[in-house]
Amino acid sequence: MTEKRSKSLLVGRAAGLVEKVSALLPMLRAQAAGHDSAASFPVSEMAALRDEGVLAAALPARLGGLGAGTEPAGATLVRDALRLLGRGNLAVARLFEAHVNALRLIERFGAPEQRAQAAADVFAGHLFGLWVTDPPGRPGLRVQGQGLVGSKGPCSGAGHCTRALVTADTVGGTRMAVVALSGAEKVRAVTGLQGMRAAANGTVSLDGARVLFWLGEEGDYLREPEFSCGAWRGSAAASGGIDALVEIVGEGLRRRGQAEATMQLARFGELLIAQETARLWVARAAEFAEAESGEAAERVALVNLARIAVENAGLDAIRLTQRALGLAAFVAPHPAERIMRDLATYLRQPAPDLVLVEAAAWTLQQAPAS
Ligand SMILES: Cc1cc2nc3c(=O)[nH]c(=O)nc-3n(C[C@H](O)[C@H](O)[C@H](O)COP(=O)(O)OP(=O)(O)OC[C@H]3O[C@@H](n4cnc5c(N)ncnc54)[C@H](O)[C@@H]3O)c2cc1C
Repeated sequence: MTEKRSKSLLVGRAAGLVEKVSALLPMLRAQAAGHDSAASFPVSEMAALRDEGVLAAALPARLGGLGAGTEPAGATLVRDALRLLGRGNLAVARLFEAHVNALRLIERFGAPEQRAQAAADVFAGHLFGLWVTDPPGRPGLRVQGQGLVGSKGPCSGAGHCTRALVTADTVGGTRMAVVALSGAEKVRAVTGLQGMRAAANGTVSLDGARVLFWLGEEGDYLREPEFSCGAWRGSAAASGGIDALVEIVGEGLRRRGQAEATMQLARFGELLIAQETARLWVARAAEFAEAESGEAAERVALVNLARIAVENAGLDAIRLTQRALGLAAFVAPHPAERIMRDLATYLRQPAPDLVLVEAAAWTLQQAPAS
């Protein structure tokens, strides 16, 4: 097959996939409130993503995927899929984002047979988690001999992911491993979480977990630009949460007969600005991060700024939704009530101050000396 023909086939399959994700939105929305109140894992939603080929789309094309998140050609696809999923249910988007992140790290740092093994696992229906955070106040995960001791948390998909890419401390640094999960691991649920409850967040004990393979070298997980650049995908999912608020506020204003009320129009206009700001930053960050060319430090700085810009846009969208809909938006089961909780929680990503000042410092260092 010519390169041109295989490229156009790929584009066709990618467009088909976005349509399939769009078609799942009514189901995601209809079931989101139930999962939130029961803090239940979205089993049928993740099964639908598997059955529609969305989970496998994250694999590179040569392994049967569409490169969504693993190849530059799949950047637009993963961006659109994450945004749509975020519009439907942020918890589902988060689970897909972690799955993509894990496969990307395997693609970047894995040996050919490890990549092939991960692809076979995905086609066998495994959902990957990315568990890199150590539980506060508890010993994190450590390498001991050829095995693992300790735990990770919070972990999205705890008790449901059947594969996880984890980081574990060694004497000399941090090592990545891909582990097989049997479902019998001890999970301590994170209780009292304000939002993202359906992502099944818990602390998972990984004592003696079965290591399928050690990935890369010590220190690879923190290697730039890979480490920071991946953050744009979380922002893409969060921007879908903003889209959902825009829709709900628009519907609410029409229903209340306030679609011509000046102050409501002004608020809705500000909301549209927040939505478009997030969309534009995500598009730019995706383009930069996935290009795999250009200066690494510049790509990191841009993605870091995008992260903060989308966080700010999300916080603005929450404030404007509260002002536009008033108390109604605070009363469950109003969808805005849940989406605002999910979005506010999802926006809590590591070290926001640090990424902002590092991006600012890098930019100032580029200024020509006067
Ligand atoms: C829904 C959800 C699902 C998650 N799922 C997973 C998962 O599957 N796997 C996983 O590994 N992790 C997961 N996490 C954890 C996540 O990756 C982050 O670790 C967590 O969200 C960090 O948020 P934080 O606000 O506590 O950040 P922190 O980095 O603790 O920051 C809190 C605040 O303190 C400031 N700050 C931090 N350090 C300093 C300092 N030294 N001096 C001054 N200020 C400082 C920050 O800028 C920020 O304002 C999840 C989190 C959420 C919300």
